[in-house]
Amino acid sequence: MARPSLRSFVESRSYSTHDSCTVGKRRLHNSAAVTDSPITHGRRRLRAVVVGSGPSGFYTAKYLTSSVNKRIAADRETATSSSSSSTSSSSWPFSGIDIDILERLPTPYGLVRYGVAPDHPEVKNVENDFAAVPGNTHSRAHGGGTVSYFGNVDVGRHVSLSTLSALYDVVVLAYGCQSDRGLTIPGLDLRGVLTARQFVNWYNGHPEFGYVADIVREALWDRDGNNAGDVDDADNGAISKAKAVVIGNGNVALDCARILAKGRRGLKDTDVPSSVLDVLGDGVEKVVVVGRRGHVQGAFTIKELRELTKLQKEGYDVSFRVRQEELDMGMTEASLQELQLASGRPKMRIDALLREAAATTEEEGEGDHEAPTKTIELRLLMNPIRIESNNNRNNPRVHHVIFERTQLQGEPGKQLSVGTGQYEKISADLVILSVGYKGSPLEGMNENMFDSQRGIVVNNQGKVCGDNNLFVVGWIKRSPTGIIGSNIMDAKETVASIMKYIDSNPQNLLALHEDSDDDLSKGSRGLIRHLEANNVKYVTWDQFLQIDQAERDRDRLRNDVQPREKFLSVDEMLACLQSTC
Ligand code: NAP
Repeated sequence: MARPSLRSFVESRSYSTHDSCTVGKRRLHNSAAVTDSPITHGRRRLRAVVVGSGPSGFYTAKYLTSSVNKRIAADRETATSSSSSSTSSSSWPFSGIDIDILERLPTPYGLVRYGVAPDHPEVKNVENDFAAVPGNTHSRAHGGGTVSYFGNVDVGRHVSLSTLSALYDVVVLAYGCQSDRGLTIPGLDLRGVLTARQFVNWYNGHPEFGYVADIVREALWDRDGNNAGDVDDADNGAISKAKAVVIGNGNVALDCARILAKGRRGLKDTDVPSSVLDVLGDGVEKVVVVGRRGHVQGAFTIKELRELTKLQKEGYDVSFRVRQEELDMGMTEASLQELQLASGRPKMRIDALLREAAATTEEEGEGDHEAPTKTIELRLLMNPIRIESNNNRNNPRVHHVIFERTQLQGEPGKQLSVGTGQYEKISADLVILSVGYKGSPLEGMNENMFDSQRGIVVNNQGKVCGDNNLFVVGWIKRSPTGIIGSNIMDAKETVASIMKYIDSNPQNLLALHEDSDDDLSKGSRGLIRHLEANNVKYVTWDQFLQIDQAERDRDRLRNDVQPREKFLSVDEMLACLQSTC
């Protein structure tokens, strides 16, 4: 039976949060297909597709597989224990689940590969857990789950959401956030201004962000635009005299500052591509990280902050500075109350850490010992007002940022930064806007499915609102917050909604896909037919493993401990497969 397209069923219904957001209320379009009689169809396998192969996508595949397996095992047990009576009416009509993970790039892992800071390899180790998911393919005969990977498949371009919705019983959107939270101040378009998303993707070797190299190179080494002076110094490991300003007080801002300050010597043992190290040189002399509120309201966490304070001790030649008076300015009555709350404990530790750092900053200023060459300074209670240029007609580029001193106003937990009318200019050759990521809709989503204010897919516990077979997980479900581990609970919640959906109307699913496991038009086989008909060169899991192996080839590495030298373009990755690497 033909399945209605996503667009048709989205548009044919008026949107009501009240009923369309209720999990498990999917109605059939052909009511004649529904029977209240016990299921008499033969068992078949469930088919699910996950769009996106970052942490939330992999965790969903993992927990969905185990939930279905548990459901089948429980069902079998019930059938065995009541073997005297007929059990066909109570048994689950599915014999296992096949999950396909689709990824836009040939390589999987999303933000683990292209977002996690390269000097945090222990975080990247989670890739090993994810790699075991497609590997855990049990025999179909035993009702196990299979997980397959299709890299280099761009949903929206190579295959539409409505096609996926028709091919699979369940579609899970796990495509993350691919744009930036807006900062609306003048000067954002000046050369030398980047978003953190651009900068982070570039230093992690993302194929679509290679263009950032020229912008950073100019900012650090060729500020006059005459190709003179320091351009070659980057390759020689010199320290750039440039000043960088990072706007925002989240962990991404701290990552950007640390990478800029560490430079080649600090990053040579990581998977930062060699071409990126050639641009960073031995780091940037001065990096200022600026928050619009106080340190108690900072979005950073203590582990990441402590890392900055220890750079000097650990031999990176970078001192950390923070001003005592700015810490004090943020200590309003409401901030003190925020510290007293149970949730304030980590903030108390941040307060203590920063006060200690502020005292060290003052001592350093007094002594005559040799100061570190590079500095990261944390500035607080400064709101960006505009970014101004160097007024050079031949080479217009960023020169400084104007900030307004703010003060905190409001209830504990809700304090806002309010301008005081005092302004400060901070010099900047490079400005990185690190004010958060934002999600975008996929082709085929209408305004009822996507909340453009929050940048998330409208959902109820992971079930996309409306009459559809769509689910959502990760940042595009809950907004861009949390660490990799946050995706575990998030994925479990979405999987619970999927199981509810399947359990509440298995007859409907069978009726909508009344076909056998051998049907070439459904699931993986239907997808492959569609991709091949459209000449899409998808990358399988085994092919990804070849790319992975090639990136780790010793001949590519700059030293014995570098984990990998990434391919920097999709063409290079695909060429590697053609030559079987
Ligand atoms: P984030 O944690 O949401 O921080 C955004 C920062 O931008 C906040 O300090 C916010 O200040 C500021 N901001 C927002 N709008 C602004 C504006 N108009 N002007 C000035 N400042 C503005 O975002 P993120 O740093 O991109 O991190 C995203 C998520 O990834 C977070 O959950 C983070 O913890 C996580 N992450 C974790 C790690 C790690 O565990 N090592 C590393 C990287 C990222 P206000 O608070 O005043 O709005």
